Amino acid sequence: MALLTVVLISLTSTVAVVVALRRSDDRLVEQKADQQAEVVVRAIANQARRYHEHLAQLAVSLGAQAQLEAAEFAAITAPLAETVLPGVTGVGYVVPATASEVTGLQTYWRARGVSGLELRSAAFGRSPQHLFVVIRQTFDGEPEPVGTDLAVVPQAVEALRAAREQRRVITSRPYLPLPEGDRTGATRPPGFVLAAPVFATSPPADRGRFRGWVLLGVRGDEFLDQAVAADAGQSAAVELASLSTGTPTLIARWDPVSRVDTRVDTRQITLDVPLSTWQVTVAPTVALLAHRNPPPDVAAMLIGSFITILLMALTAALVTSRERAVRQVTAATAVLHEDIRRREEVEARLRRRKAELKGFAGIVAHDLRGPLARISGYIDFLSDDLGPDLDDQNRDFLDRAGKAARQMSTLVDDLLGFSVADNHRITRRWVDLKRLVDDLVGEGFGRPADIEVGSLPVIGGDETLLRQVFANLIGNAVKYTGPDGRPWVRISAHRDGELWRIDIEDHGIGIPDSQKEAVFTAFTRADGSEDYPGTGLGLAIVHRIVERHGGGVRITDNPGGGSRFHLTFPAAGPQLDASPADRVENRAP
Ligand code: ADP
Repeated sequence: MALLTVVLISLTSTVAVVVALRRSDDRLVEQKADQQAEVVVRAIANQARRYHEHLAQLAVSLGAQAQLEAAEFAAITAPLAETVLPGVTGVGYVVPATASEVTGLQTYWRARGVSGLELRSAAFGRSPQHLFVVIRQTFDGEPEPVGTDLAVVPQAVEALRAAREQRRVITSRPYLPLPEGDRTGATRPPGFVLAAPVFATSPPADRGRFRGWVLLGVRGDEFLDQAVAADAGQSAAVELASLSTGTPTLIARWDPVSRVDTRVDTRQITLDVPLSTWQVTVAPTVALLAHRNPPPDVAAMLIGSFITILLMALTAALVTSRERAVRQVTAATAVLHEDIRRREEVEARLRRRKAELKGFAGIVAHDLRGPLARISGYIDFLSDDLGPDLDDQNRDFLDRAGKAARQMSTLVDDLLGFSVADNHRITRRWVDLKRLVDDLVGEGFGRPADIEVGSLPVIGGDETLLRQVFANLIGNAVKYTGPDGRPWVRISAHRDGELWRIDIEDHGIGIPDSQKEAVFTAFTRADGSEDYPGTGLGLAIVHRIVERHGGGVRITDNPGGGSRFHLTFPAAGPQLDASPADRVENRAP
């Protein structure tokens, strides 16, 4: 269970971390893709601007010629070949002409150095006039077929017209620039044409007069390669399309070797070039984020799994050691239980043996009483009968025998009492202690004594046994007062919550503190009582009887000298055997 919890918590945390990392990673990827798209678009715009600037410069140079010759055109456009303008197929000079002007135009340009010029008139198409390419300079070593009429190429007509009207460089809609458009049809990817109007600045008389156009043919794929190869490289696929007709028309495509990352959206950004709107589509490839190896989420997953395994191992180790400890404790407990069971067995056996012994003592004591009484009787008889005739020594022997017999009788009585205290079946009735004690006092205790009996309660108990208790305690109080003093005893009662406490005080010899508990053990006598007769059984009997009545007994010193015995009994009394009619109300002290 613990193992499962650990694995669950650990895996959940790992997944949470992985998800968080993946989210932040995704944000990072999106940011990078945005940046990349911006860079690509800026590169394309910059390159387009460079082409425009070169062409505008060229138009100004051509306008400055008072009379343009083929050789001058070649000289002016030559630097263009050296300037790296990738994808440029060539540069042409285009002049407008009406049908009637064609022959004159041809003669004029032949005289300007364009030998063998054949102007090939085409149907006007969308142009109200012919648009002849009269001079052409290629940069890729292609021959220069001039005399083409662009009036049939709508993209060219549109661009030329806009360039003239707006007096600036115009980018055409995509089409195959000359001469490829002529020769190979649509097999090559399209490109576009940049057109710049040429206005005369020389001679001064001609200033501002429109002369024609200078055209720059550009191959789309090379243009795009040059623009994005450096910035996008392998990290993005790029498509350049024209939006001039509403639907995107592809101009060029940059396809890197790396595969496009399908997790990331492609970016589409529009770019305004004069007369055209280009749409640049940038699709990031897997190479964009390939340098992060392994990606952070995978790394987190690996680390998380590693930690999970570690935690599992740790928990397993803990669980097994705990189980081992539990097994050891269980084994130890079993041993303990066995030990306790054996002890209980022994105790039960001991209790049985003790009870048997007490029973035995009781029986023996009982059986000894008769013969002892007879012995005492005979001794008394002998003393009375032979006493006057005996010499002193024999009389002394007889006295000693009589004394020993009496001692033995006391011991037998006490033993019998001890046995009774334990084995006698208690018959519970309401016992009026005042009456019981007064009776005892009336019987006397073998010597004159002052005995004060206070108000005593009625308690539930066995009258015979209770009588023995008070007889023993008052008897001791009288007995353990030195021969010189007159014994004084006071018996009083106090209500203490649910208990009655009965105190028996004397001014006797007292009991040392260290023996106040021990004297309740059978056959134990306190120091200082050697000169007083006794068996050490009386208090053991008292203790047993009081205990069987649900009460207790203890000894303190009497402040005025002597001892004070405190007995307690339940005030309600234990379950009584007597019928309610027998009940006597408790008397308050
Ligand atoms: P015993 O037969 O010796 O009196 P008990 O069991 O009645 O035996 O008393 C045990 C011992 O306690 C006595 O031997 C005596 O030393 C002491 N003892 C009992 N009661 C008193 C008392 N009232 N004053 C002084 N010592 C007492």
